[in-house]
Amino acid sequence: MIDLHCHTTFSDGSLTPAALLDHALNTGVRVLAITDHDTIQAYGAIREQACRRGVVLLCGVEMSTHLEGFERSVHLLGYFPAEPEAAFSDWLLHLQQGRAKRNTELLTRLQQLGLKIEWDEVSALAQRQVGRPHFAQVLLRKGYVATMKEAFTRYLGEGGLAWVERDEPTLASAIENVQSAGGMASLAHPVRISHDRQFVDRVVADHAPLGLEALECFHSEHSEEDVQFMLSLAHKYGLNATGGSDFHGNPKPEVDLGTGRGGNVRVPWYVAEQLARKFSELSASISPERSTALRIADEQS
Ligand code: AMP
Ligand code: ZN
Ligand code: FE
Ligand code: FE
Repeated sequence: MIDLHCHTTFSDGSLTPAALLDHALNTGVRVLAITDHDTIQAYGAIREQACRRGVVLLCGVEMSTHLEGFERSVHLLGYFPAEPEAAFSDWLLHLQQGRAKRNTELLTRLQQLGLKIEWDEVSALAQRQVGRPHFAQVLLRKGYVATMKEAFTRYLGEGGLAWVERDEPTLASAIENVQSAGGMASLAHPVRISHDRQFVDRVVADHAPLGLEALECFHSEHSEEDVQFMLSLAHKYGLNATGGSDFHGNPKPEVDLGTGRGGNVRVPWYVAEQLARKFSELSASISPERSTALRIADEQS
């Protein structure tokens, strides 16, 4: 199996990178990219181990970006065949600073609303980087909300009572940063942008000429019709397809690595072949011969 979208304790997932690698091997994932929010550090933590244990590991990241005139954040995935140059990580630091500022403001908003919530309680849940799911967990634990979803709709999400705008790069500039660092930019879970397919088409049309190279066609939030539409869109604009579960572990227990929500994700093997065509560094590990063997093993599993 292939999974190019998952999170670890380096952002808001509950498994450490090493535990995620174990889980990948146990579930049969052979091509893996960790896409933590705003950081690529998990890659370095397991790169050698993944290589030794026969998992093709890409370096990945998920970034929150801004689209002119659009109120919701648009997620972009960046993929690299190996760790990109330091300039890219330095650029990611700005995103992390924007997140830290957002977190401070978010905490203040919640406190102003009269909720008894302290920074230490939130940060204690995070191993490295605090995200909104950590805030959501505290709200849940304290009985302010009944579900994680309610924490977002009522308080943390766009339009929620404690919603704060975050400094985000534009989608165009994030694409440019990924591309100039030698990576492949893929538009994450496009259904989350909008259910208006014409709008999604326009976003892709506008950004393909700017270096958007792929579309995340396969994702645990995509219906079968969504997958078909995204594939047709990728074809229309000559983009690669990517896909993954968006596994987070405990914060989203219904989504598993490789297979998504109740088996609704199955990333086809040609996605790995497209990656190998894009990144010559991967062509040895995803060579046609090896690829055939892996594909057959994959189909039998
Ligand atoms: P952050 O990067 O801190 O802004 O948090 C983004 C994370 O919050 C992502 O991993 C999403 O999966 C999660 N998230 C966003 N909206 C919701 C929602 N409505 N319900 C549950 N999780 C959400
Ligand atoms: Zn996340
Ligand atoms: Fe996302
Ligand atoms: Fe994600």
